[in-house]
Order: sequence, then C-alpha cells, then structure tokens
Amino acid sequence: MEEKISNQIQGQRFRHRRVERMRRAIIAILAGWALLITVLVTVLTVRLFSLEGKLDALAKTLADTENAVARDNSEDAKMQGQKADPKEGEKAQAAEKLPDEEASAGSEAAVPESQKVYLTFDDGPSENTAKILDILKEKNIKGTFFVIGKEDEASKALYQRIVEEGHTLGMHSFSHKYSVIYESLDAFSEDVNHLQSYLAEVTGVTPTVMRFPGGSGNQVSNTDMSELIRYVKEKGIEYYDWNIDSGDATGQAYTPEELVENVMKDIGRHETSIVLMHDIPTKPATVEALAPLIDKLQAAGVELLPIGEDTTPIQQVPADRAG
Ligand SMILES: [Zn+2]
Repeated sequence: MEEKISNQIQGQRFRHRRVERMRRAIIAILAGWALLITVLVTVLTVRLFSLEGKLDALAKTLADTENAVARDNSEDAKMQGQKADPKEGEKAQAAEKLPDEEASAGSEAAVPESQKVYLTFDDGPSENTAKILDILKEKNIKGTFFVIGKEDEASKALYQRIVEEGHTLGMHSFSHKYSVIYESLDAFSEDVNHLQSYLAEVTGVTPTVMRFPGGSGNQVSNTDMSELIRYVKEKGIEYYDWNIDSGDATGQAYTPEELVENVMKDIGRHETSIVLMHDIPTKPATVEALAPLIDKLQAAGVELLPIGEDTTPIQQVPADRAG
C-alpha cells in the first residue's frame, strides 16, 4: 500500500518536472522568436529610412544635374573661348566685329564682358545677420537676403537694416516648414502672402523676389511646383534659385577656406552667378568666409550686385516650362 502511494507520488513528480521542462522550453522558444522579430523589424526600419533618404538625395541630384546641364550647355561652349589658346581668342575677337561671322563663330567668341555675381543668404534673420551686414557694409557690397518670418524685435530691426543698407530683401517662407507649405497651393499661398504683408508692414517695402525653400526643383513638395510657380508669377513675384552652391548648409562641415574655394572654382562658368549661402547661427564658417570671398571675387573682376528686376533669373524649373 505504502509502496503504491510512494510510486504514485514519484510518478506525479516526474510528470510535474516534465511539464515544467516543456513550459520552460516553450517560453524560451517564444522569447527567442520575439527577440528575433524585434531585431528584424528594427533592422528593416532603419534600412527603409536610410534607403528613403538616399532615394530623395538621388532624385534631387538628378534634377540638379539635368538642370545644370541644360543651363550650362551654352555657357560651357562660350567658356571654350576663354580656355582656348590666345590666337583663338584673337580670332574670336575679330569675329565679334563682324556680325555675320559672329553668329557662325558663335560659341567660340564670347568671353563674358562682365560677370555678374549675386551673393544670396537664405534662412535669416539670425544672430549672424548683423555680422554679415557689417562685412557687406565694410566692403561696400550689396547682397540679397531670402528671409523667413520672425516676429521678435531684434529680427524686425534686422529686416529694416537689410532694406536701409540697400540690400535686396527677398522672401523665402514664413514658416519654412516644407511639410506645411508644400502640402497644397492654399497652404503655400497663405505662407507667401503672410510673409509678404508682414515684411511690407515692418520695412515699408513690399518684396517682389523670392526663393522657394529647397529651390524650385526640390523633390520634396507634395504639390506640383509648376502650380506654385504659376501662382507666384501671377502675383508679380520673380523667383531665383542658384547656380553656385557654397556648400555651407550641406552635411560637410566646410572650413571658411573651403567655402571660398567651392564658390571660386565655379565662378568662371556663368555670366550670371547666383551664389547660395546661409544666414543661420549654426553656420559661423559662412560669416568667416565672406570677407575673403568678396576680396577674391573683386580681384577676379566680377561685378557684385543685389538681385533686382533686371537680374537674369537662374531657375531649376524655368517659369516658361511651368506655364
Ligand atoms: Zn531655406
């Protein structure tokens, strides 16, 4: 009898242990799966974001390149005149005197008579604006500021100083939030009108030039840029992109010397150069680069001007193609 009970207890214990072992094994397997799935999801998410980023960058580069190629074709041809040997240059000059031949010599001939360079500063006003204005004043140069909307007193004073000192006050965006302004034509027009009337109220001057955030050829807008371009043109606003990027807002932390080099290496390529720079507090190198850049540009004999009505628009998406 006792032996039977003892056997029963042992049997029960054995079963308990087996159930316990199976329970642990199942938990271990489930935990393993959960971990594996978490790791997989994390890896895939990170990979997705990085690929999306790369795709955006790629699309942007492609658009830029296409536009640059289209724009530069004629100018590149002209540049060959500059690079050719002196005899070619003389021939070209001689050809210039004969209208008929000039047409046929065409691209060979023209060394740009005067190169116009427009220094532009995006995203201000900021704590750098006064420093930029000081340098421009000291060098007696006028530039162009594509500003965003800021309502504090210091910023209001900076908008006024830009106008008073003869620079061009251009519009960029009141909010500068791509996801908001590029959501629809309504959202965009509200932003532009807000900025235009605000700047007019603060400075007494109604701005008529602008630069689209990200450029007219940006690849992030949810609204067809042609629609936005038509809208601003109808309002009598001209938009300007750039054909020289100082690189000051790229991921690379360029030194002031490198920023100057980035601009100077491309300056001979265009008759009209619009140089993209930024007026943001995290970019002190731009401020440091400015005086040496102006010195080099002046030494190269270019004309430094503020954007005005007679400035040739440099546009990634030309207005006539948006029509
Ligand atoms: Zn911007």
